[in-house]
Amino acid sequence: MQSLCVFCGSASGVAPSFVTATQAFARACVQRGIRVVYGGASVGLMGTLADTVIQAGGEVVGVIPTALVDREIAHRGLTRLHVVDTMHARKSKMADLADAFVALPGGIGTLEEFFEVWTWGQLGIHQKPYGLLNVEDYYTPLIEFLDHARRAGFIRAAQRDQVAVASDSNALLDALSASSG
Ligand code: AMP
Repeated sequence: MQSLCVFCGSASGVAPSFVTATQAFARACVQRGIRVVYGGASVGLMGTLADTVIQAGGEVVGVIPTALVDREIAHRGLTRLHVVDTMHARKSKMADLADAFVALPGGIGTLEEFFEVWTWGQLGIHQKPYGLLNVEDYYTPLIEFLDHARRAGFIRAAQRDQVAVASDSNALLDALSASSG
């Protein structure tokens, strides 16, 4: 895995561990020589992710739509910043640039991005692995809901099992590397 797309919050969350776990994840990527692709913002966990990759000497590529350059304060210290026209162009570009996808804690945008990647995966639009970093059990209620949806017959077991879940950065990166070749 050479390049990983990371979705995460434009907020930092309440618990300090969301920030420290994002820093640990960023450093783990750099140690493995993985280039990070993300939403290009300097705010929230997105900013923490980019700052940490840069400080650790790694490569981080941002993809931000013009409309958000000011609102999310585009990060100006990245290896590369792509400014695109629309939200859809952003997601498409991020997907093209990455070999795998991870969601760290985040809000509606993070969930939307992750679910689109999952949907594209199950439709066969890409064959790239994806996973959730379950920091502080943030995603546990979502995972429980997904299991509920599987029991209710709306998500197949194979679809559910396509999502790698781990609370530890290295465990998650190992799982994604194993399936991204
Ligand atoms: P959030 O998780 O809500 O803090 O948002 C994380 C990132 O997702 C931010 O950069 C948002 O601008 C972005 N975002 C929100 N909705 C969308 C969308 N529909 N398509 C692409 N990016 C989005």
